[in-house]
Amino acid sequence: MNTTDILSSLAAVQAAILAHEADIESLDRAIGDGDHFINVRRGAEVLVAMRDELAPLPPGPAFGKIGMKLLSTIGGASGPLISSCFIAMGKALNGAVEPSPQQLAAAFAAGVEAIKARGKAEVGEKTMLDVLIPAARQWQALADADTPLPALCEQLAAEAERNMLATRDMLATKGRAAFLGERALGHIDPGAKTCQVAINAVCAIFAADHLNAQQLQRSTTP
Ligand code: ADP
Ligand code: MG
Repeated sequence: MNTTDILSSLAAVQAAILAHEADIESLDRAIGDGDHFINVRRGAEVLVAMRDELAPLPPGPAFGKIGMKLLSTIGGASGPLISSCFIAMGKALNGAVEPSPQQLAAAFAAGVEAIKARGKAEVGEKTMLDVLIPAARQWQALADADTPLPALCEQLAAEAERNMLATRDMLATKGRAAFLGERALGHIDPGAKTCQVAINAVCAIFAADHLNAQQLQRSTTP
């Protein structure tokens, strides 16, 4: 993975967020204050517009810059949380120009730890962490086992979807939805949905790139 991959991922995430406007918006209307979609759309737009600024940087500093930018653009509870994730990922990757799958998975795990520390939340509290914590564990396990990229992407995306759906039956103990008590039951957490949409988008382009690279190699091998 390099910074070009990050830029393609940001564009894919932005497109996916826009494509899921109706779901994300309606979820935060149901159990929040209705601003979550606007918050993340603003963040995604700003990041895509940073393309030229990010392109010359190695992944670590690029993630650091992304995190700092998000701190001032995504509002709400989710802004500082998502921002802390990118800043921690940047620190973990340091100056690596082409981090290995294991380094990337470890950086993501550090990012998720930063969200846990800032949000003081754990699995089962009906937040974005219900998708992110298992994703970090699973990604590390799959990377450690040298799982081929398409299988790794497929499994991460499937697990993220399962965990996003599971928030529907949870009581919220963190964030605005916590004030609703049992009225939050039956609704998926908006932050969990956004994270699942983002993971799915990134997994889809990494799997597709891998396939394209293989096809290219086959067509150029005599
Ligand atoms: P706000 O709740 O301030 O309006 P957003 O609507 O942008 O902020 O984001 C809401 C999402 O933030 C929730 O759906 C949840 O996933 C996430 N969230 C809220 N509080 C926490 C927390 N303490 N830890 C982790 N995630 C949280
Ligand atoms: Mg909100």
